[in-house]
Amino acid sequence: MFGKGILRGLATTARHFVETYIDDVKRIPSRYAFDRRLIKQPLDEEGIFTIQYPEEKRVLPEHFRYVPMLLFDVETGEDRCTACGICAKVCPPQCIWIVRDKDEKGKPVPRAAEFYIDISICMGCGFCAEFCPFDAIKMNHDYEIAVYNRYPDLVLDKDELTVPTTYYAQLYPTAWEREEKAREEERKKKEARAKAAAAKKAAAAKKAAAEKK
Ligand code: SF4
Ligand code: SF4
Repeated sequence: MFGKGILRGLATTARHFVETYIDDVKRIPSRYAFDRRLIKQPLDEEGIFTIQYPEEKRVLPEHFRYVPMLLFDVETGEDRCTACGICAKVCPPQCIWIVRDKDEKGKPVPRAAEFYIDISICMGCGFCAEFCPFDAIKMNHDYEIAVYNRYPDLVLDKDELTVPTTYYAQLYPTAWEREEKAREEERKKKEARAKAAAAKKAAAAKKAAAEKK
């Protein structure tokens, strides 16, 4: 029937309109009486009331991504980045620059001396985080980065990009748990391999000593 789609559309709009008030009423008095900054609109709510940003903010899903951040491992006390350069290679708009660090003899070491990302060019694709073999670069949730000057304010250096792993764990609890499990398994495998190699070496030494006699 002509106009059926229009009626269905209007019914959906009316439903959302009513649900908006239901969601809002459920939040009284918290939405209006207490600290409004704590009020969020979860993704599972049906109504779409206007969020009074910046006082109110939407709850972000774990895999929300804005611009990258570099991880400082609080457990080891070191940056995770080894300056391998993979992220810079895979970055589609080529907005990552890395300078590898050197030791006192001038030999390159697996550590970044400088690390820059031009976040005015970054398109938030997450390829850098996806391809990093050391879980050293992840996508930050912080989207409040407006500045007056594009250069140099939006070219973030290593210090500005670096966050502790505890911050990452807080933003990405599921991914953190999964990665920690994988890291633990890898540690155990490494230990088992080292033990097996040591046992093999000891057996070979024993055999050589027995042959000498
Ligand atoms: S962030 Fe990851 S991929 Fe990029 S240079 Fe560092 S270790 Fe390599
Ligand atoms: S998120 Fe994408 S565009 Fe941004 S730095 Fe990473 S790879 Fe480059």
